[in-house]
Amino acid sequence: MNSAASIEQQVRSHYPHALSETAFRDRVFQFLDKEHCGNVSRVLLAIAQCADDVNAVHDADVTLVKRHFRGNLLGPFEMGGLAGIPYAGLTGISTIAHHIPDGGSALIVYGPHIYGPHIGITDQGDLGKLLRPGQHLESAACGSLTLAVRHLGSSPDYQPRDDEDDAEQMLLERRLLPYRDEILSAAHPLKAATNVAYTLIHELIHRYLRARKDEFRCESLVLAGGVAINTDARHADYVDLRHLSTLRLAEI
Ligand SMILES: [Zn+2]
Repeated sequence: MNSAASIEQQVRSHYPHALSETAFRDRVFQFLDKEHCGNVSRVLLAIAQCADDVNAVHDADVTLVKRHFRGNLLGPFEMGGLAGIPYAGLTGISTIAHHIPDGGSALIVYGPHIYGPHIGITDQGDLGKLLRPGQHLESAACGSLTLAVRHLGSSPDYQPRDDEDDAEQMLLERRLLPYRDEILSAAHPLKAATNVAYTLIHELIHRYLRARKDEFRCESLVLAGGVAINTDARHADYVDLRHLSTLRLAEI
């Protein structure tokens, strides 16, 4: 068994339906292509993903994706920060609405090089950490969600601080707080927190779109969301694709 097959099996033991990055990208862009009759030259890409540099690989991917569409895809507009929460909020969605080219549309992707959270995996199949380039010891991924789970478990009375100097982490923890028991009682608390974060991000994006839908001049958007599973630099990443749809703004 070669190492690539092995990491795929490790990923699938946690996420049975995970797609390779390439398969994921093909799935999303075939869908986008169909929705736009092969003309994506007026589609603005907007993403909500964790600020973690392990996802910076995504920037190269965006370039590849752009090249695949002959450099026609616009953006990306970055909505996210720690753990992929779309901190840009209502103003971010309004800005996307106003940046879409005339007669164009948007692809909003959350998580795996799209919209949503991410989680690391080691060659041994340990979830929640990975070996980063230039390091010899594994470290946490998502570090932000790992810290949040640690804080939630530190005391039954834990309350995130109101701290402008740590605003994203504290807001993430505030949003996770109602799910504290669900997360801490799970067999794998970080995996549970990642799932909760995905649902939160998905709901936030939809809530912001409902609130600001009148500012869009296009009729529909394509949304793609899921959880990114980061491996070390020797392997491609994987994506647990959880949402891919066309959203008709008049119907939300
Ligand atoms: Zn992260």
